[in-house]
Amino acid sequence: MPLEIICLGTELLTGETLNTNLQFLGSELDPLGIEIFESVTIPDEPDRTREAILRAFERGHTVITVGGLGPTQDDMTRDIVAETLGDKLHINSELSDHIRGIYQKNVGHTNPQAWERQASFPEKAIPLFNHVGTAPGMWYDDGIRRIAMLPGPPNELKPMFRQKLLPILTPLHPPQFTRESLAIFGLPESKVEHELMIALKPYPGVEPAFCIKRGKCHVRLTVKAGEAAILAAAVAATRSHFGYRIQGLEQTLAGVLIDLLKDNGQTLGTIESCTGGGIGAALTGVAGSSAVYMGGFVTYSNEMKMKLAGVKQETLAEYGAVSSQTAIEMVEGAAKALEVDACIAVTGIAGPGGGTPEKPVGTVHIATYFLGKTVETNYHYPFEREDMRKRTADKALSQLREQIEKVLGYG
Ligand code: AMP
Ligand code: MG
Repeated sequence: MPLEIICLGTELLTGETLNTNLQFLGSELDPLGIEIFESVTIPDEPDRTREAILRAFERGHTVITVGGLGPTQDDMTRDIVAETLGDKLHINSELSDHIRGIYQKNVGHTNPQAWERQASFPEKAIPLFNHVGTAPGMWYDDGIRRIAMLPGPPNELKPMFRQKLLPILTPLHPPQFTRESLAIFGLPESKVEHELMIALKPYPGVEPAFCIKRGKCHVRLTVKAGEAAILAAAVAATRSHFGYRIQGLEQTLAGVLIDLLKDNGQTLGTIESCTGGGIGAALTGVAGSSAVYMGGFVTYSNEMKMKLAGVKQETLAEYGAVSSQTAIEMVEGAAKALEVDACIAVTGIAGPGGGTPEKPVGTVHIATYFLGKTVETNYHYPFEREDMRKRTADKALSQLREQIEKVLGYG
């Protein structure tokens, strides 16, 4: 039987609060093979909430509501759930004592309305104790309708879900499917799909899905529960088809590059203009990167490009700071100054100002250097400033990795 999740709270629809609880619940339920049939997000409006709960009951699904269990007037989940169940709210005295205690200790007042509201449940409901905050959760199962209520604050929802609700849910929701995800580096999504279809030909029951994540492609393979052996065979076939392009799911573009250079005892440097150190930050974010990454320059001005990397004044005057020629001089000059085997240079216009008809905002030149050879490319990323800078950093890391892979005879 699938689950439905109803997220309650106007703030989730105004952009004020990110719905992290849904992400958490998905990440907990998916590995257990429990399907989330649907999730809806509803403002604090009783009629709409009632409608959503009744719709889920009609479908015969287990319902989880999230939020609306606080002590204030707009927290109405308890009342509405009781109403949809045709039940009345009863004060659970044990819980009300507990909640009153928390209020006395933390807030210093004992407004009975607050703790009485939070300790009220439909008669047949089982309270889910909240060790962290005041709002208890609830589980209700009359054999036909099943509904859980969880509090909105993520630090309360998480332990309650794991410790209280999951042990109730798992026997009622045997696994429907098994999945495994793999991360593929260095191929566009369409190429990944094409190649994957070849690898998966002998496994028609395996369902693939794709998701692009910061310069890599995540492939998710799903089979029905009980077909774990088929999944394992399909994963093995995929691994052997894509070879070195498959890396750990948590692996980053910077991590793959660092590993590649580390394996060969080679060193790396950077010289960045529009990314302002973003590439260096990504590289130093990799544990153990100090064995490979020697450091770099952030040369935002023309003066610094000349002073630190020896970019020629004539080059800057003739072609401009954002040009193939400047990018090449930057990378070769920095590789020499830093005495490294590999180097990355980026120079571009992140915007929103500074663009011209010939070089619009989003223009970027990326030069990479490895053992005496330089590769230079340019792109147009007409994104918002931050996105442009991230995409440039990702592309630069990928470009150098591909250059090294070619030299080392990969693929
Ligand atoms: P509530 O239980 O509705 O009073 O919510 C209490 C707090 O939890 C508020 O700060 C909400 O913004 C937050 N919250 C509620 N639902 C979610 C959600 N789905 N994801 C993240 N935070 C939430
Ligand atoms: Mg609320």
